[in-house]
Amino acid sequence: MIDLVRLKDVVSSGRCTGCAACTIACTRSGIEVDEFAIINEELCRSCDTCGDVCPVIGGSPVDEFDNIIAVYKSRSNNIEGQNGATVSGILNSLFEAGEIDAVIGVERDEEWKASPVVITNKKDISRIAGTKYTYVPIFKAFKDAVNEGFTNIAIVGTPCQVNAARRIKNSNITSVKDKISVIIGLFCLESFYYDGLCKQVIEKELGIDLKSVKKMEVSKGKFIVMGDDEKSIPVKDLGKYVRLPCHKCVDFSAYYADISVGSAGAPDGWNTSIVRTERGIKVLDISKNDLEIEEGSIDAAKKLSDRKRKMAKEK
Ligand SMILES: Cc1cc2nc3c(=O)[nH]c(=O)nc-3n(C[C@H](O)[C@H](O)[C@H](O)COP(=O)(O)OP(=O)(O)OC[C@H]3O[C@@H](n4cnc5c(N)ncnc54)[C@H](O)[C@@H]3O)c2cc1C
Ligand code: SF4
Ligand code: SF4
Ligand code: SF4
Repeated sequence: MIDLVRLKDVVSSGRCTGCAACTIACTRSGIEVDEFAIINEELCRSCDTCGDVCPVIGGSPVDEFDNIIAVYKSRSNNIEGQNGATVSGILNSLFEAGEIDAVIGVERDEEWKASPVVITNKKDISRIAGTKYTYVPIFKAFKDAVNEGFTNIAIVGTPCQVNAARRIKNSNITSVKDKISVIIGLFCLESFYYDGLCKQVIEKELGIDLKSVKKMEVSKGKFIVMGDDEKSIPVKDLGKYVRLPCHKCVDFSAYYADISVGSAGAPDGWNTSIVRTERGIKVLDISKNDLEIEEGSIDAAKKLSDRKRKMAKEK
């Protein structure tokens, strides 16, 4: 008999990103997500609703740059972040303007284990600042935020997470769809397994105590770890620690976001920001006192997008 639950194919093909969006769709609490989704056969009634929000089933556009409204170079006036802290600056402005009451973000512990978190005020934005190159099921925190009664939620995530957020927002799941206020995407070439990146590479190969690490960064083909000293390793040497679903992923610039933010194409200390929706225009307008905004270029993002698509074809 053909199994109608599309999620099972996503998981068995190794393409499940572990975003946990499907747990939002299942009214029977039939899905658990750790590294990937696991369906509880006893609870599942094969309705297939979960498939409607899955980014892998939804897929990515052929041309991820066909919805660009504007491209900027941007940075925050007063907040520290991964690059220009554009994301943190936008979140700060949205809290101040009363446009959002919660943010779904990613924090880390002292050993760089990342976890999804609900941030409910502007002074806590610093808890989620900075890139963690591992992956977390951010929709677990979204579920918590909805259960706690938040109604204007900002979601920040990688392209696959943003894809799921857009599908939830466009879905018929009335209990959650209108609670997403804004979707902010991050550029992303790949993410890594924690044990491989942090334990094997950073601790063993580079000999760095994770507790001393202040920042990690990818720049000019190098993965750079900044702590008491600065050490680096070529990104190409990290291939075996790239998460399985990332090998087939083709969205670099977070097509489904209201605003996408990355470092590619921007000078040090700045971001490249792509506005993609009317909501994105409004959000950037609200944020203009917190941000410096100048004309930007999409060329570097386009090159990396081409590279990502080429790599996915070769896998
Ligand atoms: C896995 C990953 C890979 C990336 N690869 C690239 C790349 O190849 N090229 C490029 O130009 N940019 C890449 N980025 C984006 C870049 O690292 C910055 O996040 C982006 O430029 C925004 O910078 P900022 O200074 O505005 O961020 P900040 O103001 O410091 O805000 C950072 C935000 O990122 C969120 N965040 C941190 N880690 C994660 C995570 N693991 N998953 C989801 N959200 C997270 C936080 O919740 C916070 O809201 C990547 C980001 C991630 C998470
Ligand atoms: S098919 Fe329906 S019941 Fe089964 S896990 Fe998906 S949403 Fe839940
Ligand atoms: S929605 Fe996310 S967690 Fe669920 S099957 Fe799809 S990729 Fe995996
Ligand atoms: S490469 Fe794709 S699947 Fe992997 S974290 Fe980035 S957006 Fe998600």
